[in-house]
Amino acid sequence: MAKILIIGCGGVAQVAIQKCAACAETFTEICIASRTKSKCDALKEKIEKNCAGTGAKAPVITTACVNADDVQDLIALIGREKPAAVLNLALPYQDLTIMDACLACKVDYIDTANYEAEDTEDPAWRAIYEKRCREEGFTAYFDYSWQWAYRERFEQAGITALLGTGFDPGVTSVFSAYALKHYFDEIHYIDIMDCNGGDHGYPFATNFNPEINLREVSANGSYWENGHWVETKPMEIKRVYNFDQVGEKDMYLLHHEEIESLAKNIPGVKRIRFFMTFGQSYLTHMKCLENVGMLRTDPVMFEGREIVPIQFLKALLPDPASLGPRTVGKTNIGCIFTGVKDGKEKSIYIYNVCDHQECYKELGSQAISYTTGVPAMIGAKLVLEGKWKKPGVFNVEEFDPDPFMEALNRYGLPWVVDENPVLID
Ligand code: NDP
Repeated sequence: MAKILIIGCGGVAQVAIQKCAACAETFTEICIASRTKSKCDALKEKIEKNCAGTGAKAPVITTACVNADDVQDLIALIGREKPAAVLNLALPYQDLTIMDACLACKVDYIDTANYEAEDTEDPAWRAIYEKRCREEGFTAYFDYSWQWAYRERFEQAGITALLGTGFDPGVTSVFSAYALKHYFDEIHYIDIMDCNGGDHGYPFATNFNPEINLREVSANGSYWENGHWVETKPMEIKRVYNFDQVGEKDMYLLHHEEIESLAKNIPGVKRIRFFMTFGQSYLTHMKCLENVGMLRTDPVMFEGREIVPIQFLKALLPDPASLGPRTVGKTNIGCIFTGVKDGKEKSIYIYNVCDHQECYKELGSQAISYTTGVPAMIGAKLVLEGKWKKPGVFNVEEFDPDPFMEALNRYGLPWVVDENPVLID
């Protein structure tokens, strides 16, 4: 049907690309482009070998080297490859350059995480950031304003930008749209809970890009209540929840990007909170790294050259893509909704349970990359098939949730609806 250009070849991309290749009727051609071309070539070889072994229809796969920080390099690549859409699975730092290139070439854009500045000490960025902190009331380094600002330009170009089609944001946002469509007249409370019950056996490792992960969890928490943001200190709010197929876990309130879009797109919502589970050992390691300055994102001089501490730390930590064979246990991610239907108050809990070892057996990856890569493929598929396609910039909950929910069941992330959930106070 169409050609897709996928940028990035890390943990999430490796899952999404293999899932796209298994849907060769939609993704007839795939170009994998990243900073390190050898990773793209190795994945192409793996997919082609698998398809030859099973007799499955394989898409045409090409690979390329690209610097996704460079708009001209991206424009040249898109011009050469002529894809119908670009799936950005590089880092949030590259969102705007890739959106600029998509605009210039008039091709659709899809991603899984909102824009974040790489250099948070840059005075021009900082001025805008500080104004937003004052006006909006949350201090996270990432927010949707940068990408929502492209709305008119995407409309005028007649192309679609689909933002945040991972698991959270992504599946949790679609769960919200689905709950509203099928279970409620109005949703008042949303609690998003991301539980990773997996154990990789290392004293300390992050399940996805360490830089993004560590910045997320060392930042202030926040939640949306009665039309405004309430900010908390990092890890200030703790709850304990007994997760299906995982068991009881400590979870902490974090700021998370889907709160921002759901607050706009779920009419009448009064409170949205996001919780993620962490073990005590993970938190102690992180606090220690933070205290000694290893989470700093600004360059420091070391033996005559500049290094960025968090990037150096990334080089020391296990590559998230390598955790697959070691990780056992399950993830359980979902949302509890409370609202009204036909005048009566009710609550439901929609969630997915994913097994690390099952993911590894299927694609050679752990469940965190799997639970993000599968919805990235589904979002791209719905855009390419025209089911989620209209000019402008959209978050996933703005589209009809039904085809996405069906696809989750079909492509490896089945979900359940519990109509009598235990609530969080
Ligand atoms: P990785 O670090 O494993 O992969 C990132 C990939 O992007 C690497 O292949 C890297 O190249 C490539 N890359 C980085 N910078 C550039 C550049 N300037 N030009 C070209 N390629 C570049 O990250 P993950 O796979 O864990 O995460 C991918 C995305 O998914 C991130 O945006 C992350 O925030 C998001 N995510 C979203 C989640 C959700 O639920 N919504 C959950 C988890 C992640 P190289 O191989 O050379 O390093």
